Amino acid sequence: MTTKTSCFTWKTLNPSTYRVVQNDILKELPFIYVKVYPTLLLLVDTGCGPNHCMDPTVEEKSIRSYIETNLEAEGRLTYVDPETNETKNKHWLVFITHTHYDHIGGLFEFADDSSVFISGNDRDYILKDLGCNSLCCAFNIPTPKFTVAHWLQQNEKLTFNGVDLHLESLLTPGHTPDEIALYDSEEHVIYAGDSLYEVLPIYIIETSNMIEYIGSMETLLKFVREKNEATGKRLITYSGHITDNVDTENLIVETIACFWDTLKGKAVLDKTMVMREKNLLIYMSENRNVGFMCIDTKLEEAKKHFGFEWPLPTSA
Ligand SMILES: [Zn+2]
Repeated sequence: MTTKTSCFTWKTLNPSTYRVVQNDILKELPFIYVKVYPTLLLLVDTGCGPNHCMDPTVEEKSIRSYIETNLEAEGRLTYVDPETNETKNKHWLVFITHTHYDHIGGLFEFADDSSVFISGNDRDYILKDLGCNSLCCAFNIPTPKFTVAHWLQQNEKLTFNGVDLHLESLLTPGHTPDEIALYDSEEHVIYAGDSLYEVLPIYIIETSNMIEYIGSMETLLKFVREKNEATGKRLITYSGHITDNVDTENLIVETIACFWDTLKGKAVLDKTMVMREKNLLIYMSENRNVGFMCIDTKLEEAKKHFGFEWPLPTSA
């Protein structure tokens, strides 16, 4: 473990995977995951970036330096090339679950010498106005510049230079058009980004689409049930915030039920508020384990699409 003070915490999740949490000033507390391969390193998301530590006086603000120091201490940062006997640094593969600022804020630290993987669902969304779409503009954060090494496709089984990554990409637009989930068949987990988590509501904000979201979750549920059935094991969810150990099938079923309750006006109205000049409604399930925070027009659009008519409460 690094001995410097830092705005990160380090936890082992399974034999190949670690979780890093950034204690950031905007209280997003993003979950960042690191998976170790013999000659490669996988990073899932990059946090809010070094200028957003809750305590600005900490010594270590760099996500990359923090992770590499910890991996080195565990003897997992480098490998010996069998042909040359040279010790080499493992190459970073950086997967972005979606390009919101709290997932790409540290990406610039990897941009020069890593391979970046992003959803190929809507390339223009990323290529044309990343500054606004990522909310970097809204929070006055510099928008990271990077080159995409690979645009992910639906149900793509992933390899890198001939190495099987034991990963399958799933395009799950809804929270954003570029949201992905990633299935790790080796550890039997799903990286779910901001599509699924507990306690906090799922954000249906400026670039979200509720109609696409429910389609994505129904497809994901089918995928998860098939994998659970085929392996005899239960898939666990690694989310972008808050959740890293729950049963995926149960969480999706609960979230889908809450989605329909929200559209029917049967979910619990927790709060109304105004954010970035938009009226927001927060609806939670009865036990408050899952919910949705929706811009009113987005909810109205979905209600209309699925034929539910009732008047939305006005925001406070
Ligand atoms: Zn997000």
